[in-house]
Amino acid sequence: MFLRMHHAAWPLLLATACTGALISPAMPDQQPVPADHSHNPYYSRTDTAHLHVSDEEWKRILPPDLYAVARLAGTERAFTGKYWDFEGTGTYCCAVCGNALFRSDTKFASSCGWPSFFEALRPNSVHYREDRSHGMVRTEVLCGRCDSHLGHIFDDGPPPTGKRFCMNSAVLEFMPAQQPTASPE
Ligand code: FE
Repeated sequence: MFLRMHHAAWPLLLATACTGALISPAMPDQQPVPADHSHNPYYSRTDTAHLHVSDEEWKRILPPDLYAVARLAGTERAFTGKYWDFEGTGTYCCAVCGNALFRSDTKFASSCGWPSFFEALRPNSVHYREDRSHGMVRTEVLCGRCDSHLGHIFDDGPPPTGKRFCMNSAVLEFMPAQQPTASPE
């Protein structure tokens, strides 16, 4: 009985993960999918075409905390974001445009207090720009689709790449992986 109910619940969970239209029930190691993008006409999980949207337009669309990080290159305080110690299995997408950015199997435990990955999901998931702000020379990481600021990349990451994508949780949106269907008994 339990297995039949468990099985029957997956279509709802999968539909939720794909559309973001509903909040899925929290799993033991997975947070609910952030929900409503109906106010954001540029958000898409399937369209990878590069976006050209003004900051003025993004300011009108995005929540203030997301706008501050994504469009004003803000940085959330260490150890405060929702993903720095999160371990769910799935994909991290851009919270601004829905572009797939990182797989959870490239996320690693870092002592820096921000979610850290050693590799982008695709080479063009992100792009890079030199950042000379705050008296430092760093490499900024931006979303490959909407150019939002995501964080910075450093050369002190683990194998196999040696890179550390140091990201802000605020601009990430976790999508749980689809679960395997239970085999009939
Ligand atoms: Fe984006």
